[in-house]
Amino acid sequence: MDNPNRCSVIIVGAGVSGMTAAKMLAENGVEDVVILEASDRIGGRLRKEDFGGVAVELGAGWIAGVGGKQSNPVWDLARQHNLRTCFSDYSNARYNIYDNNGKIFPSCIAADSYKKAVDAAIQKLRYEQANQDYDDTSSAPKTPIELAIDFILHDFEMAEVEPISTFVDFGEREFLVADERGYESLLYKMAESFLFTSEGEILDDRLKVNKVVRELHHSRNGVVVRTEDGSVYEADYVILSVSIGVLQSRLIKILPTLPNMENAYPGCNILVVTLTNGESKRIEAQSDQDTLKEAMQVLRNMFGPDIPDATDILVPRWWNNRFQRGSYSNYPIYVNNQLVHDIKCPVGRIFFTGEHTSEKFNGYVHGAYLSGIETSNALLEEMRTGKKRRSENQTFLLEPLLALTGSLTSSQPESRPSLHTIDIPQQLFLQATKIRLPEAIL
Ligand SMILES: Cc1cc2nc3c(=O)[nH]c(=O)nc-3n(C[C@H](O)[C@H](O)[C@H](O)COP(=O)(O)OP(=O)(O)OC[C@H]3O[C@@H](n4cnc5c(N)ncnc54)[C@H](O)[C@@H]3O)c2cc1C
Repeated sequence: MDNPNRCSVIIVGAGVSGMTAAKMLAENGVEDVVILEASDRIGGRLRKEDFGGVAVELGAGWIAGVGGKQSNPVWDLARQHNLRTCFSDYSNARYNIYDNNGKIFPSCIAADSYKKAVDAAIQKLRYEQANQDYDDTSSAPKTPIELAIDFILHDFEMAEVEPISTFVDFGEREFLVADERGYESLLYKMAESFLFTSEGEILDDRLKVNKVVRELHHSRNGVVVRTEDGSVYEADYVILSVSIGVLQSRLIKILPTLPNMENAYPGCNILVVTLTNGESKRIEAQSDQDTLKEAMQVLRNMFGPDIPDATDILVPRWWNNRFQRGSYSNYPIYVNNQLVHDIKCPVGRIFFTGEHTSEKFNGYVHGAYLSGIETSNALLEEMRTGKKRRSENQTFLLEPLLALTGSLTSSQPESRPSLHTIDIPQQLFLQATKIRLPEAIL
């Protein structure tokens, strides 16, 4: 090969989907793969950190969807590697809702507010489906209890459309990962099966960390990838596994441009707080000490001035992390599958993967895992059919020549030079109208 940095496939991102895609390709004989990861580690949104003397998960914490007829592949991996988990038993859970003075709300008030929030959401959805403006001033949550219930109901726990595919397909049980090695250890174990590792460290040259991809230039001959540190890599194909937030940001320039698309630690005295939307951005923007002061103020209002100070605070900043730009995808419930289909549709030689490309399981670890498998299968199919097409086209072009020279027989395709000018994936012709690919790419 002329360029030492040229390989068959470059995978951008070493999260669950990127690593799974790499493993699948290796298992199918495509070993000259390079994985370019922006941060200094693999795992992406699987990330543990030591805090307060225990390993806490900053990203995914649960394996959701266990105990059904089909087995969840991430649960299978967890069992295979003896990942320690605890069953999240909501049937015995007691929920208390406190006001800001620490008084428990009577359950009948909570039930009324719950009903009001559900009715308002259904109403809003009907308007959005009909593309009409919805005046939510009368039904918008106002009192603290209404705000709390609205948050739990819509922003956090139940921001998914029923029936939830994860529970339907894999079962309704959920397990919290409680392993000192962290959820991310599953990926290190996976890496051992196809990369060169020693004592838990990945030493394989095909994984390149601290490589922030900034540009992908794709053409019929392949893809040229440029990183922030000035390195240039070339490949026949690219699998892009970065999050939807990164795709929407300006971190990676794609040329020609893309078509337009739109209490977890028991016994450890760690209090977990979940914030979403504007509030999470506000907290990410201020110093941890300011957040600690705010949190202590709220707790003291609720439980009295004598409660002890927290000894430490850990604030994950998924939104401000330029390699994430958010925690996970959550498509509006009235969005149809076509959008997700468009998002994962390959463009030229660039294939897309990641939890956001999973129609049924976006937002989950198993969504990322299954999308890695699906994308690598699509790419393997493309590589097979592309190779066949090339060889058929070579035969077609060479036949008149062979008739003249008689020196070669048409049953020796391997001995012929490759003809890049006709190296065009068939499916692009089919997609060209739909996604308006510029003619030049074809
Ligand atoms: C706070 C939080 C809680 C969650 N809780 C759960 C849960 O309980 N259960 C569950 O199933 N799921 C949960 N999830 C979702 C789950 O973590 C994700 O769906 C999954 O890990 C996504 O994997 P991925 O491979 O699609 O993306 P990622 O993990 O984001 O991988 C993409 C990789 O691309 C890299 N990258 C980005 N830009 C570049 C660039 N320019 N060049 C090179 N590399 C780049 C990133 O550094 C990253 O390593 C949670 C996520 C968060 C953030």
